Amino acid sequence: MNPTKSSILIIYTGGTIGMKNDEHTGALIPFDFSGIYEEFPSLKRLNVDIEVITLSPIIDSSNVAPENWVRLAEIIRDNYASYDGFVVLHGTDTMSYTASALSFMLEDLTKPVVFTGSQIPIGVLRTDGRENLITSIEIAGARSDDHPTVPEVSLYFQNRLFRANRTTKRSAEALNAFVSDNYPPLANVGVNIAYHKSIINYPATYSNELHIATHLAEGVEIIKIFPGMSRQILEAVFSIPHLKAVVLETFGAGNAPTCEWFIRIITDAISRGVIVLNITQCGGGAVEMDLYDTGLRLKQAGVVCGYDMTTEAAVAKLMYVLGLNRSKEETLSLLREPLRGEFTV
Ligand code: ASP
Repeated sequence: MNPTKSSILIIYTGGTIGMKNDEHTGALIPFDFSGIYEEFPSLKRLNVDIEVITLSPIIDSSNVAPENWVRLAEIIRDNYASYDGFVVLHGTDTMSYTASALSFMLEDLTKPVVFTGSQIPIGVLRTDGRENLITSIEIAGARSDDHPTVPEVSLYFQNRLFRANRTTKRSAEALNAFVSDNYPPLANVGVNIAYHKSIINYPATYSNELHIATHLAEGVEIIKIFPGMSRQILEAVFSIPHLKAVVLETFGAGNAPTCEWFIRIITDAISRGVIVLNITQCGGGAVEMDLYDTGLRLKQAGVVCGYDMTTEAAVAKLMYVLGLNRSKEETLSLLREPLRGEFTV
């Protein structure tokens, strides 16, 4: 490899971005990213060397499970010293979950890991995948003052680069499918790429070694409350054997019904050691459990505040933190502080 060029590893996991029309039948078939320079000769003009790993099998991201996150983290760790940055091509449906999980699992990351995908297959004329791919490669290879410009797990889609663990897929139709309601873009892309360095996380020191977490806890569930929710569903979830934690998607600023059975089921679960993390269903804004009596009751029951975290980040963080097998106190204190910029206190 040319030492003056950035070297980028593309990891293709599956999803719409990797599809093209078969020349003969017209049906969608997987695109072979190892022939990336033949398909996109313009990539040669970027100052990067590119290599591609295609996972086998490639999967629709609806089939992604925590085992796939571990595999991805291992690939990044095993190739870490050989590359300056990584681009992960992933189906859009669960990309925010995977990218959030990786933000926690890549524990001392100091190189860019950029997730991207597309709404229209890369082999279709009107694809959004070509721009998403090329710009992600450029971002993964970007350097300022001899260091990577974005040494975080990020997600690039339609002209905006986001902190990955702040994102949510918001549209099944629009090309700007992802939002980051509670944290501004790390970069905006127009004629130039405008990086917003004051809001990018930079490490104190840089290293060619990466430590990863490979144990993710099971027993993490999500409950979305709604007016008219039955007591049985709440009881059923909280009586799952080996339940460790529940992301409770509440109303507004973290509010939930104050009726006796609701508070009692939650209080009992917490006293049995289950962690309940309060995340608002609103997307934008944060949980503030002191604001209304309906939030205060949850706080008094021992519910943990999730601030302005997304559900995707909350689930991933719980699996990661509980997988560390720390004491109850340490676990709670890791949940109460932002570990990778996933919430703002
Ligand atoms: N179902 C696809 C996936 O998530 C959708 C996409 O990639 O946009 O794998």
